[in-house]
Amino acid sequence: MTERLYSTDQYARETEAAIVDVDPDDGRVLLDRTVFYPGGGGQPHDVGELVIGEDRLAVVRVAEDRRGVWHWLDGGLPRAGTSVLGQVDWERRYRLMRTHTAMHALCGVVWERFASPVTGGNMEPGTGRLDFELPDWDPEDKAPIEAELNRQLEAARPVEIAFLPRDEADRDPSLIRTKVSLLPESLREVRVVDIVGLDRQADGGTHVASTREVGRVRIGKVESKGKGFRRIRLVLDDRSARSAGSA
Ligand SMILES: [Zn+2]
Repeated sequence: MTERLYSTDQYARETEAAIVDVDPDDGRVLLDRTVFYPGGGGQPHDVGELVIGEDRLAVVRVAEDRRGVWHWLDGGLPRAGTSVLGQVDWERRYRLMRTHTAMHALCGVVWERFASPVTGGNMEPGTGRLDFELPDWDPEDKAPIEAELNRQLEAARPVEIAFLPRDEADRDPSLIRTKVSLLPESLREVRVVDIVGLDRQADGGTHVASTREVGRVRIGKVESKGKGFRRIRLVLDDRSARSAGSA
């Protein structure tokens, strides 16, 4: 299995690693350790480079299976056993971390006001959308929700990661905010992302350490997605960004 550094050290931008398997048919390599997020929970996979001596091989796709985290490379494949330096495209990843944390903060704000569960979501660097079961939504609600969301982000709430034993997580149904995605049976340990005092949910993605790093956000279009369902879009307002995590 691949050691997943992104799970415990979300600010790790690079790591030494060894190629433990090569799949020439699919153009991908398996690493013993990685900082590349393989995608999941609405957050896209990372991209970046594997550095081998003078060579830089582009990592164009990342995904996981039972064996670990696979990295698809542009061009020729190195041999198994090769030592590499894996480097994520940090600018893109850091925007995804800010976007992902903003989305959890929006979950918390909508939950506090409407007790509405999330039914789905997706993001790109800098923009995201969340679907809610939200029968009581009124167009007038948009401005106060946006103001409250920015107030919560500005409050510099810590964002903490914890790992709970499966049985403990099962006793806390509030951890599963997304109605549709239940935890797989095989999962022994559940990773929990806690925006302290605002939102706590089971999640495998990468987040910033404080809501203040998100900066300001704008709520975009709110669409109806069938009776009682709404899709809320948010956008990072990068003119106001506090780029604590960028180089
Ligand atoms: Zn999430």
